[in-house]
Amino acid sequence: MKTLLLLALTVFAPCLAAQTQSAVAIHPLMQDWLREQEQQLELFFGVDATLDWYDDSDGMNAVAIPGKSQILVGSRLMRYHLLKAGRGVRSLRAILAHEYGHLAQERYPNNLSFAYRELHADLLAGYYLGRNGLVDASGFWVYANATFEIGDYDAGSFSHHGTPPERLACLMAGFRLAHLPLEEAFRVGTEFVENNF
Ligand SMILES: [Zn+2]
Repeated sequence: MKTLLLLALTVFAPCLAAQTQSAVAIHPLMQDWLREQEQQLELFFGVDATLDWYDDSDGMNAVAIPGKSQILVGSRLMRYHLLKAGRGVRSLRAILAHEYGHLAQERYPNNLSFAYRELHADLLAGYYLGRNGLVDASGFWVYANATFEIGDYDAGSFSHHGTPPERLACLMAGFRLAHLPLEEAFRVGTEFVENNF
């Protein structure tokens, strides 16, 4: 199923340029892919959250809404990344993992400040990618580019997310924790961001 969806999205990608943002978001292939990501990310992070798209025509974005257990990914953001040859789907996976990481921060005890929460979510995204074998170490440019070229795909200003080198360092740190179970990686990751930034 995963391979079929990935193949379908690859075939789908060249047609994207002619489609509007909302047409991309509501396309059956995209909807199937989002459902698949939701199931995988819920299982991985041990959270129950609805993943849906929204109209981000006023600025590309993806957001986690802990109070509602909801992740919203912008239709413009999706289209933008899917048009990027060779890295679209992987970039979106990383962004979604960052957002689900914020919900995991609600689940596991921590005293992370807002700035640290962003870097910690980057670390959890790296952990997710590494734990699932979604990219190899040399493939981190995919996520880094996806994250840094947009800068602020999350709520708040860019400065809240840390600098690009800080974000990359956290991503790599998370990737290196892939051998640990989630709860331990979460705790070690918390110490990492608090002690290094
Ligand atoms: Zn964030």
